Amino acid sequence: AENSRPVYEKSLNFEAELGHYGIIEGHLPIEENGVVHAPPLMWVEALDRILLDMGEDGFEMDRIVAVAGSAQQHGSVYLNARFDEALGNCDPSLPLNQQLTDVFSRKTSPIWMDQSTSKQCGEIAAAFGGARRITEATGSVAVERFTGAQIKKFADQEPKAYSDTRAILLVSSFLASLFAGRRTGIDYTDASGMNLLDIRRKTWHPTALSACAENLEEKLSPPADPRRAIGSISGFFVRRYGFDPGCIVLPWCGDNPSSLVGLGLIQEGMTAVSLGTSDTCFGLMKKLPDCLSPWAHAFIAPTNDYMLLLCFKNGSLAREAVRKQFDLSWDEFTTALQSTEPGNLGGWMVPWFEAETVPKIDKPGVRRFGLDINDPAANCRAVVEGQMMSMRNHAEEAGLIPTAIKATGGASRNPAILQIMADVFSCPVVSQETSNSAALGAAFRALQVLQRTTWPETVAGFSGMAGVSRFEPSVDAGVYERLRRIYRECESALLSRFENES
Ligand code: ADP
Repeated sequence: AENSRPVYEKSLNFEAELGHYGIIEGHLPIEENGVVHAPPLMWVEALDRILLDMGEDGFEMDRIVAVAGSAQQHGSVYLNARFDEALGNCDPSLPLNQQLTDVFSRKTSPIWMDQSTSKQCGEIAAAFGGARRITEATGSVAVERFTGAQIKKFADQEPKAYSDTRAILLVSSFLASLFAGRRTGIDYTDASGMNLLDIRRKTWHPTALSACAENLEEKLSPPADPRRAIGSISGFFVRRYGFDPGCIVLPWCGDNPSSLVGLGLIQEGMTAVSLGTSDTCFGLMKKLPDCLSPWAHAFIAPTNDYMLLLCFKNGSLAREAVRKQFDLSWDEFTTALQSTEPGNLGGWMVPWFEAETVPKIDKPGVRRFGLDINDPAANCRAVVEGQMMSMRNHAEEAGLIPTAIKATGGASRNPAILQIMADVFSCPVVSQETSNSAALGAAFRALQVLQRTTWPETVAGFSGMAGVSRFEPSVDAGVYERLRRIYRECESALLSRFENES
């Protein structure tokens, strides 16, 4: 904190080091019906190993004054009646995982990649009275990976195992419970990725609870405020890993909300755009709009504000498709963008190379307007401009108005893409290497609780919106305003046509 920089980082690769769980890239082999699970005991062993490794590296464990964390959103852990006692009586001479082998009522945990619960999503949405109502109530439409549908599937298909379940935690609250030595509640940020939380009241939603499973509320402790410390670290952690007994433990958050603060996005308008396989856009909102977008996700932020997140399936996937269509290298793609005019002389594209999530389109359907399909440079610009116009339109409709953008992800190394982003959004864009922003966000929370600082004070000194390179808008805002309006009208027409077809 004194020097505004991380002092130690360490990571463990599940596949390389914990392959004995039969996993590939951190999860069990994907099943045909869309089931994607991971063994929860693997996370316990990973934690045990990494803490021991830290000690072996010479890290002074007893100088850690507080621990907060973050974990993949949506993954859930199902515990039986033995968990509380087993956790309370762990022997520090033995690995943690060896002592928690028989505490799971469901041996494997569904994770964020699981797509197997469409039926349950339909039933939960119907209980609310449709997609719009569940979005208003929980912040998102019913989503396959969200935990409500996963719990419902488990309760419906394995009623005995469900009734043997004493507690359901998320990966985040499960790991926080290990540190605290006792079961802790799911924090608001991660609870808002379950379709179970009343997003405005921060309490479990009665309609969602009864739509998912019987006696669910008693298996979910009340949701926890991530800003409130849980207590001191467990004696097991003191004796096995060398923590100081006075070390404070905080609730853990979901990784995306944790990244929000880790990237320093603690004021309205500061937005992150991650240009990965999919493109994701997220930022902080002080207040929820009266009407929530069915294509965005509203989560609770670690700052106790809201976080809005939009995930576009056609990100690098669509840019790659155009690049490959014309057999271009990334350098040539960049030159193509730089050799064409903003606005592309009126030629543009709706870039749905695959089914899209924002807006929800179930089948691919690229559309070109005023665009020669054989003109490589014009098509390169059209795909990027189409993506950026769609992102700005949908972000604004959902209530997210970027005033400065932090760009991350594989394609953020491309200066021409970031220049188009700055031009279409009419705001500055900075690019930055941001590995471990979720972990950094957790460290910020711990720091804040210890020092009782405000969020701007907490993140001051860390990179903020400074970034590595910076792109300012270079064209008259009117160019894209007009095109965005046309894009929006055309997209609505396409949407109603898709609806009519299906
Ligand atoms: P993810 O984490 O979603 O797998 P990354 O953030 O690592 O993805 O980004 C990988 C993507 O970045 C690749 O699919 C590729 O399309 C894109 N990419 C890599 N280099 C460039 C570049 N110079 N310009 C544009 N896109 C690039």
